[in-house]
Amino acid sequence: MKKIVIAIDGFSSCGKSTMAKALARNIGYLYFDSGAMYRAVALYCMQNGIIANGEIDTERLRAAMDNIKITFGTDEETKAQITFLNDTNVESEIRSLEVSQQVSRVAALDFVRTALIDQQREMGKAKGIVMDGRDIGTTVFPDAELKIFVTASAEVRARRRYDELVARGSNPDYSEILANVVERDHLDQTREVSPLRKADDALLLDNSEMTIDGQLQWLCEQYKKIAEQ
Ligand code: C5P
Repeated sequence: MKKIVIAIDGFSSCGKSTMAKALARNIGYLYFDSGAMYRAVALYCMQNGIIANGEIDTERLRAAMDNIKITFGTDEETKAQITFLNDTNVESEIRSLEVSQQVSRVAALDFVRTALIDQQREMGKAKGIVMDGRDIGTTVFPDAELKIFVTASAEVRARRRYDELVARGSNPDYSEILANVVERDHLDQTREVSPLRKADDALLLDNSEMTIDGQLQWLCEQYKKIAEQ
């Protein structure tokens, strides 16, 4: 089997990371969650007063970029990926609604994207990876051998995010989450730098009505078709 790069892009909360992780585990590839990197930068801004009242102090963030170190580790017990911001485990904090409400503005800044895209390309140098995000197949790895673009209705996606937050012990408001999903879709699709769009050569997957097992099976089939060539 040849080693390839698998790029999974799509809208917020459409289960990309669940399927990307399952696929990576199944085929023995490394998994990278690029959204976690943008979330970690947003959290850094919130913790350091770089975002206040929804406004980003872009010059302070530009100067701070070299002090933001994002790394990934694995939880020994659950084998889940953990995101570290300057060596602190922030996996839970970066998933909060507060971070979700700020992240797309941070991700629209060109110098943030340039810095993170460089790191993402480094992670994929040796191939054998699954990376999910918004611009993986279009900008980060335009030559990825397998590209998937995932979508589902906004209501299905908001319900999934709601269930995820409840499972983490929060008490979320569904309508606030739905509003956030719709707003992030808009910001991600209309930003100037690397907007969210399907790469011409990406396969479209609408998973509104699919089970997780069904998606994994479909993904494994797509992977085999290419890796066995
Ligand atoms: O995937 P996730 O929802 O965790 O990503 C959080 C946010 O980070 C997205 O809403 C998007 O604004 C941004 N993002 C991005 N490019 C990526 C991954 C995420 O702009 N490759």
